[in-house]
Amino acid sequence: MAEVEAIARLVNQLSKLPGVGRKTAQRLAYHIVSLPEEQVRELAVAIFNGKKQIHTCPICGNFTDTDPCAICADDSRRRDILCVVRDPRDVGAMERMRDFNGRYHVLHGVISPMNGVGPDDIRIRELLARLADGEVREVVLATNPDVEGEATASYIARLIKPMGVKVTRIAHGVPVGGELEYTDEVTLLRAFEGRREV
Ligand SMILES: [Zn+2]
Repeated sequence: MAEVEAIARLVNQLSKLPGVGRKTAQRLAYHIVSLPEEQVRELAVAIFNGKKQIHTCPICGNFTDTDPCAICADDSRRRDILCVVRDPRDVGAMERMRDFNGRYHVLHGVISPMNGVGPDDIRIRELLARLADGEVREVVLATNPDVEGEATASYIARLIKPMGVKVTRIAHGVPVGGELEYTDEVTLLRAFEGRREV
């Protein structure tokens, strides 16, 4: 039986989401059309407003609906230690660990010559600008331990070490080739505590 076109369109949109295969998209689509209209409206509005209200924090680059973000605005957080991560998702992972009380810098990517991403395409310039006033004493490089994450970490380390800032790299508790966001809190905490100066 051919799918009703409106459902096929919904399946098509849902299957573009990460981690959603064709089967899951179909299940979600049929579930959505069976929901009360009010609930579907709430879902649609949450998606749309989420997109409209969320922007990147002008200081750290994390996703936020305030200016600056709640972490940058929190005066109880240390200003002398900065954790550099690839994505806003990684901030989420670090925060779940609940042991880091410094601030973040989100690169929004890693250097990847293969994908045409150079140092100027990610927020490295912004990082250097943040270090200029000398308030930050340690930069923890917490990019993923894969080839691009390592290359990005060494690139940044080379740039900022001459500025007299201590540069550390999270330990390899995070599985090589693994992703921060999928690493459990205990492993991440161990990797963070075992960070070494580079
Ligand atoms: Zn921020």
